[in-house]
Amino acid sequence: MVKQLLGPFSQMVTMDRLPDHGPLRDERLEIIRDGGLLIEDDRITEVLHQERFEQVRKEAEAKGSLIGHSPLKQRMVLLPGLIDAHTHICYAGSRSKDYARRLSGESYMEIADGGGGILSTVRQTRRANEEELYTSLAQRAFDHLLRGVTTCEVKSGYGLDIETELRMLRAIRRVNTSSDPYPLMVPTCLAAHACPPEFKSELQYLDFLVAKLLPVVKKEGLAQRVDIYVDRGAFPPHLADGFLYQAKSMGFSVVVHADQFTVGGVTSAARIGAVSADHLERSTEREFRWLQERDVVATVLPGSSLGLGEPFAHARRMLDLGLCVAIASDWNPGSAPMGNLLALAALLGANQRLTNAETFAGITCRAAKALSLTDRGVIRSGNVADLIGFPCDAYEEILYRQGALLPSFVMKGGRRVMRASNHLGA
Ligand SMILES: [Zn+2]
Repeated sequence: MVKQLLGPFSQMVTMDRLPDHGPLRDERLEIIRDGGLLIEDDRITEVLHQERFEQVRKEAEAKGSLIGHSPLKQRMVLLPGLIDAHTHICYAGSRSKDYARRLSGESYMEIADGGGGILSTVRQTRRANEEELYTSLAQRAFDHLLRGVTTCEVKSGYGLDIETELRMLRAIRRVNTSSDPYPLMVPTCLAAHACPPEFKSELQYLDFLVAKLLPVVKKEGLAQRVDIYVDRGAFPPHLADGFLYQAKSMGFSVVVHADQFTVGGVTSAARIGAVSADHLERSTEREFRWLQERDVVATVLPGSSLGLGEPFAHARRMLDLGLCVAIASDWNPGSAPMGNLLALAALLGANQRLTNAETFAGITCRAAKALSLTDRGVIRSGNVADLIGFPCDAYEEILYRQGALLPSFVMKGGRRVMRASNHLGA
């Protein structure tokens, strides 16, 4: 067993004992000054206030102690590792040309109709072998880790055929079983991302997925979650209901891409009892109330709003109505190429007037709820030792810097991550 003492930190922002719904004032944050943590293997075993920290430090420094303590070289504010609850970072190719066309005035839908959009990434991903998918995914995952993301949901959905969808999910699994440090990946099967041209109707494709793909995903344990893109140009709500119902009856948790361009997806998410409804840019108060009544997490995605030049989802209103709001990057090659979760959350917060506590909760403890994870997102005894430290004296400095202040300390499952601790990292 490896025992470590970490600290003292200027501040530890634990995110502990916060409600998982509704508005949060900064005064509710638990801030421990000049304290530290005891860690055994990959878990936090004790959260130490200043006095107790000093006592344990003396024990650690005493001859014969088994506790390792390396004093910090700088003052730091410690937070739980960030959780990105919605990404599409397993893909091949680039959509920079689509992006340029959009900047020249074409709409997302016009570009899709003209051969760009999701289907162009599908063509490039189908051509990539598992090694290529794994290598590019691992690189993005490691970049995310250095920016403080220690848990990251990743969707399939650029294969839209059995073989490529499984190849994507296997590449995601390979990152999880690597001995190099990466964020924990939470895989989601998003084969219902778009209807591929080989199928005559959306219904025929969804039936095919239920009959042929989902049983293999289940049998191989490649994902526990199934997602569907409900919108104009993707799948209509009445077909989504049947698909989600069948996925749920096979034992999957379900989530929905909802209300990005047109309302409708939230009705499916609420009716079926999805874990989360993601996007929600077009949702109104009526949709927010449905999510609140059915305890569906509202995951907002500022990255695609910025990428498409569209307004942000109304996160302020959602919180005021008592929803659980998670904030995710939506990192994807089409609409959200930046992928910097902290920067995106800070920009959403500035636009929507979210408190520090609300923004941090959206990328830690409330994001954990969106992924049904109960052992992370909070600095607490028993939780996994996923931690990030920022080189400053006060937590307010972090979002004020809008993503420009990077963590100088990242720990994943009790292991310190260095810029070069991954074979891909430079
Ligand atoms: Zn998405």
